[in-house]
Amino acid sequence: MAERTRELQELDRRHVWHPFTQMSEWEATPPLVMERGEGCWLIDTDGNRWLDGVAAIWTNVHGHCHPHINAAVKRQVDRLEHSTLLGLAGEQPALLAGRLVEIAPKGLTKVFYSDNGSTAMEIAIKMAFQYWQHQGCPERTKFISFKNAYHGDTVGAMSVGGIDIYHEVFRPLLFPTFAAPSPYCYRCELCPSRDPQRCNRECLAELERIMAAHAVETAGLVIEPLLQGAGGMIVQPEGFLQRVRELCDRYGILMIADEVAVGFGRTGTMFACDREGVTPDIMALSKGITAGYLPLAATLTTQAVYDAFLGEYRELKTFFHGHTFTGNPIACAAALASLELFETDRLLESLPPKMDYLKERLAGLRALDHVGDVRNCGMVGAVELVRDRETREPYPWEERVGVRVCLEARRHGLFLRPLGNVIVIFPPLTITLDEMKLLLDGIEASIRTVTG
Ligand SMILES: *Cc1c(COP(=O)(O)O)cnc(C)c1O
Repeated sequence: MAERTRELQELDRRHVWHPFTQMSEWEATPPLVMERGEGCWLIDTDGNRWLDGVAAIWTNVHGHCHPHINAAVKRQVDRLEHSTLLGLAGEQPALLAGRLVEIAPKGLTKVFYSDNGSTAMEIAIKMAFQYWQHQGCPERTKFISFKNAYHGDTVGAMSVGGIDIYHEVFRPLLFPTFAAPSPYCYRCELCPSRDPQRCNRECLAELERIMAAHAVETAGLVIEPLLQGAGGMIVQPEGFLQRVRELCDRYGILMIADEVAVGFGRTGTMFACDREGVTPDIMALSKGITAGYLPLAATLTTQAVYDAFLGEYRELKTFFHGHTFTGNPIACAAALASLELFETDRLLESLPPKMDYLKERLAGLRALDHVGDVRNCGMVGAVELVRDRETREPYPWEERVGVRVCLEARRHGLFLRPLGNVIVIFPPLTITLDEMKLLLDGIEASIRTVTG
């Protein structure tokens, strides 16, 4: 190992506090130190290449260091690095807003910028809340969320989240919500039968019961469309999102779609909502928006929501919210360049053979002894490992089987990051079929070794 790697590891160990990481364990094993990227590969300080199976935590779209986005970012750095949207408009944020509205579900015409997925959701929540204040319904202050949901780590975003292991310690800080069951999650009392149709039916029935009982005090419903990401890549039944939209309409509840993980082609369409022909009232975008280049987020909404905030200044209908780096021009330039690549590379059209291959390989993994479930939606795959396939008895989380499989996968040149005992497959969308084969072969071998 190069001397330089050791120096960087030492600096990291001494001073960097890593996210979602038990640092006492981190300090015990020297980490890989990433230095460069090339297509779907990350290259460490010793020159080793790692196939990036999780797209730099669900952000990368066109591969690392894509020449077209690199050029756009460099061009923008030499023109304007940052100004502000407080009191000024900007070339890049204006252009990007126009493009986002063109590609977004029809009816979303207003773009509020921030810089990460959690803030995009905070904005969505505050927007929905304040909307009802202006609509003369000040009692509509509550939110419906889903069990097992993840919307980010800031206090409001945690409040509408439902992953106890992350959120429980902060519970006294969080506002309460009406928590609806999530279909197919295998984590709730409604579907122990594993009867998918019954689970879907009962989840929707329970959601409707909540709405019928609480609509008059409810501002909005928050949902990850098609797929709960951090909750374990839980794929919703077909038609579920559309039914949720209908229920929100019936009870006059604003529908907030968190497309932070699934937006920008991940599920096979530009947005997950497109798959079900749904337009939410508010939509949060981040992760893939800059193709994984820079922190940027956008909360989109309708003319109707926007109009509720219009009035004389003294009426105080202003949306008093903003972030310093809102609409950063370099980030917006990267996002625009990424959207150009979607067109010139016909990226969405290129996905079906890869989605088919992923589906087929996942079906094959189902046969392994300790695979309790495989899940798939577009370019997302998940393999849930269990101690006992018949009873679905999980591995105790303390055994960290998911982490061990991902460490084993390094022997096959893969970089992976699990969610508990769920192995996540979430590669850059430009991954080739050959690279997908490497990825799936490595995952299969690693699961066999660790659980065998
Ligand atoms: C990652 C994620 C977030 C939070 O985004 P950050 O940029 O990490 O704050 C919110 N919602 C979903 C669905 C996510 O996957």
